[in-house]
Amino acid sequence: MPELPEVEVTRRGFADRIGGARIDAVRVGKPLRWALAVEPDLLVGRVVQAVRRRGKYLLVDLDQGLLLMHLGMSGSLRFDTALPSPGTHDHFDLVTSRGTLRLNDPRRFGAVVYVEDEGSPLAIKLLGGLGMEPLGDAFDFVAFHAGLRRRSAAIKQVLLAGDVVVGVGNIYASEALFMAGIRPTVSASRISRPRALRLHAAVREILARAVERGGSTLRDFSNVDGQTGYFQLEAMVYGRAGEPCRVCAKPIRLLRQGQRATYYCVNCQK
Ligand SMILES: [Zn+2]
Repeated sequence: MPELPEVEVTRRGFADRIGGARIDAVRVGKPLRWALAVEPDLLVGRVVQAVRRRGKYLLVDLDQGLLLMHLGMSGSLRFDTALPSPGTHDHFDLVTSRGTLRLNDPRRFGAVVYVEDEGSPLAIKLLGGLGMEPLGDAFDFVAFHAGLRRRSAAIKQVLLAGDVVVGVGNIYASEALFMAGIRPTVSASRISRPRALRLHAAVREILARAVERGGSTLRDFSNVDGQTGYFQLEAMVYGRAGEPCRVCAKPIRLLRQGQRATYYCVNCQK
């Protein structure tokens, strides 16, 4: 599943190039998770102004309205001036004067949705519950700690829920909690200020590092070419059950929290 770093890397890959482009045509393929919510031809002639990201949504600002794009479970975007004819899994083309932005999504849990503005009910439904962005200045420590204090659930679950801070997927949550020395099962509400400070810094660092490294292969043990991802090679705990902790050499433990695998060191994380 594309995680926040991959979505951010995707955004950086085409945002500058598509800025200022005029929409020449919109091609819609098989139904995606949500409908486009506008007649495709109505978008023709509009101009792309910028591409922003909010959580795992890309926001393509037009001179009138905006498109919300989500990659779902298996989606990926390409932007090029010379793309081949759409294939079986290409379900959306935004044909512009600077190239075509194409969504390929075999499982079709992704979506492209048009809204008039971010205050529209559909935009609020999709974006309104998202927590703070972890990468920029908006990731305020005081608000982060206050958000944790309101929640009695296990800290790992609270990070995954995304309503305090977005983008901390399963791998990142395990790694950030290790970096901060916090046991994944601790109630979020009981995390002290010094520990919350460490976690705040760890979340930021883990995600920023993932973006720097191109955001790819984080979700898999190997990529499509069979190569092990960077992050797995350097993971401190994730995917390392039974292997020695890189800090204290005690075996890494695995537990299930809400159907998701959690890896931690019983010695380094309290
Ligand atoms: Zn350890």
